[in-house]
Amino acid sequence: MTETLVSLRDVHKSFGKVEVLKGISFDVNQGEIICIIGPSGSGKSTILRCINGLVEINDGFIRVGDFFVHQLKSDREKIRLRRIVSMVFQQYNLFPHRTALENVMMAPIHVLKQNSKEVEEHAYQLLKKVRLQGKEKNYPAELSGGQQQRVAIARSLAMKPQVMLFDEVTAALDPETVKEVLVTIRELSEEGMTCLLVTHEMGFAREVADKIHFMDRGVILESEAPVEFFSNPKHERTKEFLSQVL
Ligand code: ADP
Ligand code: MG
Repeated sequence: MTETLVSLRDVHKSFGKVEVLKGISFDVNQGEIICIIGPSGSGKSTILRCINGLVEINDGFIRVGDFFVHQLKSDREKIRLRRIVSMVFQQYNLFPHRTALENVMMAPIHVLKQNSKEVEEHAYQLLKKVRLQGKEKNYPAELSGGQQQRVAIARSLAMKPQVMLFDEVTAALDPETVKEVLVTIRELSEEGMTCLLVTHEMGFAREVADKIHFMDRGVILESEAPVEFFSNPKHERTKEFLSQVL
């Protein structure tokens, strides 16, 4: 039986008087790659931030693995949650005065207090996995945007998460380097990593997603397999969105 790693049920979130999530429900099963797409401001990033406990929800239910995220209160519990659900952002925020290798090693050493020799070995493996062999000793400024983003992905993987959240990780990149980051994400999913992505890369979503959720103004308007989603969008808002981005 496939295991459901992430569950959201009727999730509501307001900032002040503005309700930005108006009852979001979906599941992510072990090994799936799920894409959330939709117009700017529709609440996509907020969903990811709720899932890893950066934002507290007002109503509803979020479970990630054994964690009931809506019930976590202390920072210690949230840090434990973020070991199994790791998020990669548009802005990769590497430490500029640390090499690629040191950036990847930092959290396991300082947060998990792991043995530095083992952490270093694992960091070399992870940089190889994201195709950055030979760049271990480079500083972020010596790397392209796409290479820096792959260091950021390796840094997230260093915590050995069960689920990866990607929030428009290619949006700030030059077109030439977008592809290498997408290849990395595709390879991760092929190895069985569970991935939830917010993306504007429609070609990528069509090619790799198991399911696409289309969001508009705080609600999911349709959830479909990519072939159905792109060939037969049901909602007027979806048709309009696709006509603008395709
Ligand atoms: P998307 O990622 O789809 O562009 P977001 O989830 O970032 O959308 O934002 C959804 C809405 O919530 C927007 O109107 C945004 O301005 C608002 N919002 C997001 N985060 C905050 C916050 N911390 N405080 C107030 N409003 C916020
Ligand atoms: Mg966003």
